[in-house]
Amino acid sequence: MNKRAKIGQLLPYQSCVLCGAVSNHVAAWCAACDADMPHLRMPLCPICALPSPLGAICGHCINTPPHFSRTVAVFGYTFPLDKLIQALKYGERLELAHSFADQLAQHIKIRPDSMIAMPLHPARLQERGFNQSMELARRLEKKLHIPVLTNVCERVRDTPPQSTLSRKARNKNMQQAFACTKNFGTQDLSGQHIAIVDDVMTSGASLNEVARVLRAAGAREVSAWVIARTLPR
Ligand SMILES: [Zn+2]
Ligand SMILES: [Zn+2]
Repeated sequence: MNKRAKIGQLLPYQSCVLCGAVSNHVAAWCAACDADMPHLRMPLCPICALPSPLGAICGHCINTPPHFSRTVAVFGYTFPLDKLIQALKYGERLELAHSFADQLAQHIKIRPDSMIAMPLHPARLQERGFNQSMELARRLEKKLHIPVLTNVCERVRDTPPQSTLSRKARNKNMQQAFACTKNFGTQDLSGQHIAIVDDVMTSGASLNEVARVLRAAGAREVSAWVIARTLPR
């Protein structure tokens, strides 16, 4: 038996979430489907992760700098990744959080002091039973050995879904949607670099608002870490 076959035997086989083929690829999808995934390989603005010639800071980030310093994104939010994110979000395939977080971990070059998960409003959390961003953050914590802070920031306003709104309306919709909890006790944010973990970044309005409240509470720097980035058509 050759070495490759032996290694293959040690890896758990599973069926690919996309095509059903039996595979021992490291992710929940097989290697052939991975080649078709919308990996972001073009040069991106380092701040907002939108395509930008030569990877320069884009005009929008120069004119209106967000409260976060950088965005790390793995995929474009297009087919078939959008279907996988929805399967994670609506709880059908919670194990996808591991595959997504493992991919994101490989893109991290600048380490923050700690992470937080994008907060979900308590009403949504109760309805869904879990926060997909917390599932991602917990896996990243294990992989990267960077602590996840909880009860630092909460969603205090249950806003209409962002996807139904224009960009301007999205920014307005986010105002006062988040607050840093008064009693984060021993967790002092002063001088910390904090990464916010989220599944999808669309306009960036919610990440920007969370970054704003974290910095108002003393954070020195904020990074946005997302699985997928919505790209302009
Ligand atoms: Zn496949
Ligand atoms: Zn930008």
